Amino acid sequence: MMDTHRPDHGCLQPVADHVWAWIQPDGSWWINNAGLIGDPAGDILVDTCATEQRTTALLNAVAAQRGRLDLRYAVNTHLHGDHTYGNSLLPQTTTIIGHENMRRGLDADTVINGCPPLWTPVPDWGAVSKRLPTLTFRSSLTLHGRATTVEVVHPGYAAHTDGDAIAWLPQAGVLFAGDLLFHGVTPLVVTGSLDGARRALDWIASYHADTVVPGHGPVIAADELDRVLSAHRDYYDFVCRVGDAAVLAGVGPLTAARETNLGDFAHWPDSERIVLNLHRYIADHGGVRFSVRNAYADALAYNKGPLTSSV
Ligand SMILES: [Zn+2]
Repeated sequence: MMDTHRPDHGCLQPVADHVWAWIQPDGSWWINNAGLIGDPAGDILVDTCATEQRTTALLNAVAAQRGRLDLRYAVNTHLHGDHTYGNSLLPQTTTIIGHENMRRGLDADTVINGCPPLWTPVPDWGAVSKRLPTLTFRSSLTLHGRATTVEVVHPGYAAHTDGDAIAWLPQAGVLFAGDLLFHGVTPLVVTGSLDGARRALDWIASYHADTVVPGHGPVIAADELDRVLSAHRDYYDFVCRVGDAAVLAGVGPLTAARETNLGDFAHWPDSERIVLNLHRYIADHGGVRFSVRNAYADALAYNKGPLTSSV
């Protein structure tokens, strides 16, 4: 029997009546948040986890909280494996929902079949296999439970990825932001758009949520949201300044990152993401062809070895 109380396996944190956030400290590489919305017509899950072990801990906690495992829907906020590899452990009767680009991206994913040695230790996903959404959408859809309404909405542009979705609960005032927000963890836009990710901050603010659950890091209360959004803006502006200077000087992302003092941003976990984010920014603004392989190779060079993950 899996011990769901290991502190590094996260916990179900109540955020509103019949709504919980699954928060996994410390929110660094591959350690994500998820969510649970209880409804008498069948519960709704927001995201799964990267590994068999972590997803099993989540599902055990859901079953313990609800007295059964009755998941009518699961929403994937984006394609990344920390939010989707556990899909295959959901009941066969659960309908998985994602943006059409998210489904296409997960379909093309090869990392689930064997993680490249970019992280240390190399993550072991366990007994998971690729399970794609069977219900996709282009701009938004609404899930109507018996007691709950959940609006699943794409921002309309690439941000963290090109297939992001938020889950918004208008009655509860809870917004599951996926990786459009990293609370106290370095944001990542390498497979999305820095300009879109910055624009998405105003979009998130426009919901005036009482509680926001980020994709990584602790739950954000309404009175903390401005500060968290400002921190993201400051970081994105910093990447823009460094990226613009690099384009002007004709230097690449790795050199630009090495010559940059991260200042306060150095304290966030996964600070080496500066290299990945600069790869994206310089490709988008400097007319350089983007290569995810080169981006990660440079991140390892900057980090002087594989990236740290405790997944
Ligand atoms: Zn992500």
